[in-house]
Amino acid sequence: LVRLRARLSRSQNALGKGLLTLLSREHLDEDTWEEIEDTLLTADVGVAATTELVDRLRERVRVLGTRTPAELRTLLREELLALVGPDLDRTVHTESPLDTPGIVMVVGVNGTGKTTTTGKLARVLVADGKIVLLGAADTFRAAAADQLETWGERVGALTVRGPEAGDPASVAFDAVKEGAETGADVVLIDTAGRLHTKTGLMDELGKVKRVVEKHAPLDEVLLVLDATTGQNGLVQARVFAEVVDITGIVLTKLDGTAKGGIVVAVQRELGVPVKLVGLGEGADDLAPFEPEAFVDALIG
Ligand code: GDP
Repeated sequence: LVRLRARLSRSQNALGKGLLTLLSREHLDEDTWEEIEDTLLTADVGVAATTELVDRLRERVRVLGTRTPAELRTLLREELLALVGPDLDRTVHTESPLDTPGIVMVVGVNGTGKTTTTGKLARVLVADGKIVLLGAADTFRAAAADQLETWGERVGALTVRGPEAGDPASVAFDAVKEGAETGADVVLIDTAGRLHTKTGLMDELGKVKRVVEKHAPLDEVLLVLDATTGQNGLVQARVFAEVVDITGIVLTKLDGTAKGGIVVAVQRELGVPVKLVGLGEGADDLAPFEPEAFVDALIG
């Protein structure tokens, strides 16, 4: 965790450092407040959240009068934390209320890191002593099932797959059935994410969901978003949220961007918490999203 934190802070703390430097100016004039806004917008915090944060900071700085570096740091930390939402439930639910495996569906646009995230999550669950089964319902991308199976072998999870270009819902059905029959604790279903038409996506994901829910309730629908795609990611998020009820967000590639503000923007957009973050391509590069650690990494 310490290693992950260090990696996160290397790419992220430009934002917090920049804000602190600006706040420490002797005269906090209009231009400075605008620069503070620009810094937040550049980090993809979004317009509404930026306005809210700056208004609150201005008011508190005004009330405070004196502004020692320590005071400003505390202020900024508190306000950023409030924005990130320190009290949201970020547990990834994998425990079925019934005597059936917990079921997690992983959705998102191709290339965002869906398959990788499914593999990494399997690793975390296996390390936790759970029997995990993977369902390769991304039958659209030719290599996706192979990639998932490789992850399965690597982390110690069986993979259920279907014929290439086969019906994703039927693979999901088989995976959940196999999971129940073999006494798996959790079934993770990787889905396809081509966004060429919304109706196509809607039909496909909707069908996967319906078929799975015939067996058992879905415990989580995790939406995978690539942090480096910024506002574009928000547009994608909206489309997916219309198709399925998202219960949590996984923000990937946070290691490769200083635009960590997207955490705030996407949570507001969907009203759903970021639960996990991807911090690299390796098997251990998935971490729970911790608001305090995140904000500390921002401020450095
Ligand atoms: P999918 O099409 O959504 O299933 O995407 P993949 O899982 O195949 O991932 C696409 C690419 O992103 C691969 O090269 C992954 O190794 C890479 N990737 C996934 N997650 C992360 C992450 O958190 N950080 C970095 N740097 N790369 C990632």
